[in-house]
Amino acid sequence: MKSLIERFLRYAKEETTSCESSESLPSTATQMRFLELLEEELVEMGVDDPYLCDKGTLYASLPPREGPTVGLLAHVDTSPDAPGAGVKPVLHRSWNGSPIELPSGDVIEPTQTKDMDRYRGSCIVTSNGSTLLGADDKAGVAVIMEICRHFLESPDAPRPDLRLAFTTDEEIGRGMDGFDVERFGVDFAYTVDGGPVGIVDTQTFNAWKALWTIVGREVHPGSAKGVMVNAVRIAGDLISMLRGDEMPESTSGMEGYVYPILVEGATREVRVKMLIRDFTVEGAERRLEQLEEVASFLRAAYPGSRIELDTTNQYLNPGEVVRNDPRIVDCAMRGTRAAGLEPVEGAIRGGTDGSRLSRMGVPTVNLPTGGEMFHSRTEWISDRGLELSYLTVAETLRAWSEKR
Ligand SMILES: [Zn+2]
Repeated sequence: MKSLIERFLRYAKEETTSCESSESLPSTATQMRFLELLEEELVEMGVDDPYLCDKGTLYASLPPREGPTVGLLAHVDTSPDAPGAGVKPVLHRSWNGSPIELPSGDVIEPTQTKDMDRYRGSCIVTSNGSTLLGADDKAGVAVIMEICRHFLESPDAPRPDLRLAFTTDEEIGRGMDGFDVERFGVDFAYTVDGGPVGIVDTQTFNAWKALWTIVGREVHPGSAKGVMVNAVRIAGDLISMLRGDEMPESTSGMEGYVYPILVEGATREVRVKMLIRDFTVEGAERRLEQLEEVASFLRAAYPGSRIELDTTNQYLNPGEVVRNDPRIVDCAMRGTRAAGLEPVEGAIRGGTDGSRLSRMGVPTVNLPTGGEMFHSRTEWISDRGLELSYLTVAETLRAWSEKR
């Protein structure tokens, strides 16, 4: 499908990086410009009701049908973890299975990425190594736009009542902040925001963040005995009290973790940021309790210090919500099989807009895009993977048309 890969390449070149420190909604103006571009393209295709909300979501619907209403979502922002301006996609045609060297000198080792071998003989798309590629989630955006075009050009093709939403700031956890569930008006939804094809993600982590503020007492080191309280030392103790075998670099599959992601400060005050992830709420709560225990221990060990621990929920696993109605997973599994793939139920070691949308009352499952190594300069996708993503979504929607 030439139009699909061309659409993806065109979108990948548009800068849409989100920005955690920004307070505006959406966090960057580039995302809004990209939504305006999508809105124009939807109008050209013949969509008559695109609505671009100034809080950063573009909504649209296809001509109505009887039966349940299904939504498709993709986020337009790319991760601030790697540069996203001036993306220059590089096409590695007829890939023969060997390591891919990017113009920057970075190398993609097929053995270090999950599902690359499947794409021998097809065209692998990467960046030039100085930026990410942005398949996360421009691939999802391109797939949904092509699906929309397909159904407008083939009005008799079987599908459910269908609505689309393109969101912003997913990568910084704010994708649903300005989202209008009423306007979207769907019974079920799919985010097209996953990795390897064949996987239907029905679970995500439960996620909290913890912010530690450690306040010490500063004094000249020459006369510090019995006076100084060194926040740097306390922070060191804090990190060393976490279990190394329960950190991201030591865990996989359904295992949770605590990730100390940032330490900054000096003797007088140190701030420590941690991410807490677990597939069960009980597991996450147990980890939070352990952090409280560490805080009590440190307070007792360092009289004269002030240690504050603030925890905030970021998103919750949609697993239970999705289980309430078997149709959403069932159609995705059938659609995946109809696309010629062996369907596997998966769990995302991360969160998506769907985690929050499910908790807002719309059961949401995640479908793959075929891309991998997201948020990095070695991100890649293949033309065949993108096509399989498209087929999975199209066949999932066909399966819904049979569920009246
Ligand atoms: Zn994503």
